[in-house]
Amino acid sequence: SFKVAIVGRPNVGKSTLFNRLVGQKLALVDDTPGVTRDRRPGDARLFDLRFTIIDTAGLEEAAADTLPGRMRAQTEAAIDEADLSLFLVDAKAGLTPADNTLADLLRRRGKPVVLVANKAEARGSDGGFYDAFALGLGEPCPISAEHGQGMNDLREAIIEAIGPDRAFGKDDPAEEARTDVMLTREEAENPEEAAPYDDTKPMRVAIVGRPNAGKSTLINTLLGEERMLTGPEAGITRDSISVEWEWKGRPIKLFDTAGMRRKARVQEKLEKLSVADALRAIRFAECVVIVFDATIPFEKQDLQIVDLVIREGRAAVLAFNKWDLIEDRQAVLADLREKTDRLLPQARGIRAVPISGERGTGVDRLMQAISDTDRVWNRRISTARLNRWLEAQTVSHPPPAVSGRRLRMKYMTQVKARPPGFMISCTRPDAVPESYIRYLINGLRNDFDMPGVPIRIHFRAGD
Ligand code: GDP
Repeated sequence: SFKVAIVGRPNVGKSTLFNRLVGQKLALVDDTPGVTRDRRPGDARLFDLRFTIIDTAGLEEAAADTLPGRMRAQTEAAIDEADLSLFLVDAKAGLTPADNTLADLLRRRGKPVVLVANKAEARGSDGGFYDAFALGLGEPCPISAEHGQGMNDLREAIIEAIGPDRAFGKDDPAEEARTDVMLTREEAENPEEAAPYDDTKPMRVAIVGRPNAGKSTLINTLLGEERMLTGPEAGITRDSISVEWEWKGRPIKLFDTAGMRRKARVQEKLEKLSVADALRAIRFAECVVIVFDATIPFEKQDLQIVDLVIREGRAAVLAFNKWDLIEDRQAVLADLREKTDRLLPQARGIRAVPISGERGTGVDRLMQAISDTDRVWNRRISTARLNRWLEAQTVSHPPPAVSGRRLRMKYMTQVKARPPGFMISCTRPDAVPESYIRYLINGLRNDFDMPGVPIRIHFRAGD
C-alpha cells in the first residue's frame, strides 16, 4: 500500500485524523499544544483505500507557531518517505506563519500533497478555508476529523493526488499473490528449465474456516507462543495481517483473517463469519487451509468457504480439526473422505489431514500437505508430455461424435500456472460435452498427481 505523512503545525488535529483513519487510540489527543504524543505508524483505511501512516512522533513537542530544526527535520523525513502528504491546517483558528513555512517546505519537495482544512464544521471556519487557497497547494479539502465529516471528499482528493493505480495498489499484497501466470510457448515446451519451482520464496498461506473451527488455536500452535493475539493491532483492525515464519527452512507468510485475533474478546466469538473477510485472506494467499471442526463437519458455511477458495483458483488443503475428540477414527475418517468427494466434487482429490490444533498432532503432516499442494499449484508440464498423455487418453476413451463426426483433439499445451490451465485444440471446441471435460480433468489430476488445485481446460478451434 502507499504511505501517507500527516503534516501540520501543532494542534491542527493531526492526532484526531490519525485516530480516525487508523481506527484505534494509539495517539493521545489533547487540546493543549505541545503535549507529547505517542504516535506510531499505523495501518489506515479510508473506505476502500488502505495505506500506512508514517510516524511523525515528536512533532508536537515543539512550541506552537514555530518550526525548530528538529521538528522540521522530522517533517522533512516523513514527507520524503511518504508517497503523499496530508497537509492539515486549522480552518477555525486560521493560518499562522508556521503554516506558510510548512507549505513552502511541501512545495519545494514537489511530492503529492492534499491540503486539508480541518475543523471545517466549526462556526467561523470559512475564513480559514478561503485563506488556505493562498498557500498555493491547490483547493483545500474541508473536513472535520473529529466528527468524521468530509471523509468522502478526502478519499477523492487522495485518489486524485496519487492516481488510481497507486491508490488501489499495484503493490497491494493481494497483487503479489495474483494467479494466472501465463506461460510463453518456450516455457510450455520446456518448463523445468524455464521456471523451476522456487522454494526460497515465501509461501503465502491463509487459514480460513468458520468461527470456532479452531483457526486461532492452530495458528498459535504453528507459530508457538500466543503471537496472533499480541501486537498493537490485536483484535482491533479488521484487515488481514501477515505473520512471517519458517517451517523446515521454508519461509512462510501466514495471512490472518479477522476473527482469528479476537479470541481474547469473548463477545466477538458470537460474530458471524464474514465472507468478505475470508475472501480477503484468500486473495492474499496462494494456498488456503480450510479448517473444519471434525465433530461438526460439512456445515453449510464450510461448503461455502471451500467453494470460494476453489472459485478463486487457490490451492486448498482441508484440516479436520479437533481430532483428539474423535473416538472411532478409522470410521470417521472414511466417512469424512466419502463426504468430501460427494459434497465437494469441485475440490476432488483435495488433501485432507486430521489434526488437533490444540495438541499439535498432525500439524507437521498438514504443513507437508500445504507445501506439496503449493508445488502442484505452481506445476508446469511440458507440451511433449501433455501431447503423449492426450493421445493415450483419447485412444483409451475417444471423444464422442458430434453431428455424425467424431471430435478430434490434436494438440495440448499448458497455457498458464497458479493454478494450472491447459489448452486443447479441437475440431469443435464448442461441442465438447461436460462429461468428457471431467474425464480429461480427472485424468490430468491422477496422472500428473495434482490434488487440491483447480484445473481448467480451454478448447480452441484447430485440428
Ligand atoms: P476460531 O474461531 O476458528 O479461531 O477457533 P478457536 O481457535 O478460537 O477455537 C474454538 C474452540 O475450539 C476453543 O474453545 C478451542 O479451545 C477449541 N479447539 C480448537 N482446536 C481444538 C482441538 O484441536 N481440539 C479440541 N479438543 N479443541 C479445540
